[in-house]
Amino acid sequence: MLDCVFMLSMKVYPVVFFAFIFSLASGFLSASGGERWYRGNTHTHTLWSDGDDLPESVADWYKRHGYHFLVLSDHNILSRGERWKTLRADEAVPVLQKAAKRWGKDHVQTRIHEGEKQVRLMPLSEVRKLVEKPKKFIMIEGIELTSGPSGFAVHSNPLNVSEHLEVHRKTSRSVVEDLADHERLVYEHQAKTGDPVFWQVNHPNYKFSVTGEMLADIEGLHGVEIMNSSSNCFNLGDGSRPSLERIWDIANTLRLKRGGLPPIYGTATDDTHDYHVGDYVMNAPGTSWVMVRARALTPNAIAKAMQQGMFYSTTGVILKKLEFDAEAGTLTVVVKKKKGLNYRIDFIGTHKEASLDHEEVEAIVDEKGLSHPVTADYADERIGMSLQSTEGSKAVYRMTGDELYVRGVVHCDAPPYFKYDAYSDFVQKAWTQPVGWKN
Ligand SMILES: [Zn+2]
Ligand SMILES: [Zn+2]
Repeated sequence: MLDCVFMLSMKVYPVVFFAFIFSLASGFLSASGGERWYRGNTHTHTLWSDGDDLPESVADWYKRHGYHFLVLSDHNILSRGERWKTLRADEAVPVLQKAAKRWGKDHVQTRIHEGEKQVRLMPLSEVRKLVEKPKKFIMIEGIELTSGPSGFAVHSNPLNVSEHLEVHRKTSRSVVEDLADHERLVYEHQAKTGDPVFWQVNHPNYKFSVTGEMLADIEGLHGVEIMNSSSNCFNLGDGSRPSLERIWDIANTLRLKRGGLPPIYGTATDDTHDYHVGDYVMNAPGTSWVMVRARALTPNAIAKAMQQGMFYSTTGVILKKLEFDAEAGTLTVVVKKKKGLNYRIDFIGTHKEASLDHEEVEAIVDEKGLSHPVTADYADERIGMSLQSTEGSKAVYRMTGDELYVRGVVHCDAPPYFKYDAYSDFVQKAWTQPVGWKN
């Protein structure tokens, strides 16, 4: 049963038609009926760009730590073809030692090139042979589209691609133009291959590049990172600029209030770069991920499920039950409790009568003299407001009919993994996706 079906014709790309299909039928979020929850990281770097380990070692880490899928998303490059890389002095010993220990001393191919020792990087096709196991662990091909005017970062990840996507690299382009460039590439690829691509904008507050209004305007956007555990991502803002959660609520309120666009779903990712600094610290693997409910562990099934919002994001809190009953209007969240921890479940949403009145906030000029636009100040407190807060590991929110949408956030009192930035510690939470919306 489908509650809503959207057909959006893309004005900018008349040849591309795509459908958003949201199944809001009873119980669609609970894992039953042949569907399962799969754990995955959608944003990972390797030596193919600026990560500091071999792709097979990276994949092996995630496989051994209970993940079901991994997206390698190196900057503007797919892991394809032949590539040799000179390792930095600090990388060479740990990279080679780790690989020798795991796969034997002859595993990594090396050569001397122009007087430098280089290692051969495995293409994804070979990594797959080494680590994939049907129904247990798969690789999903990805890329981090990386562009943006000088001093800004327009980064986005299409998941489940099979051809290189070439971004415009002219630095004179604006952030908005670059976002549109990424969107065009994603939808041309999807139309060409017929395979679903889940597309997320990464770390909007990195270099304070992307505002809530910009996210609201991107027609084909499926996701945005609301938690990125690499450095300088300012997930919680910087004191004068809003957090990613606030930006997310503003973007979704604008999309739903203005009509025509479905909400954007929030992802949590490692954006892993550092593999030799220890586990569960900044930039290292294992702290932020998504749990996807899908019919099968295949790239297409995972990408499709994520397009439909059938996942939640987490920094350590796992859910035993997540169920939205559209007919009864109830959102149920039950935590898989860890011994000794206390939980609180908040429900956040926007009132459907909330006003979009706002005051523009003056752009903030950085040390290079560049002006970074800031998400506007929306006065109505009913945007992204707390609707209910329940102590304990189980909560049910009953919709009153006044909500534009509702989403859940689970907090717990586990000690933080690490000091995140000047504004917060890195705490364990879970975020569920907006439900109960109509368009
Ligand atoms: Zn990035
Ligand atoms: Zn990245």
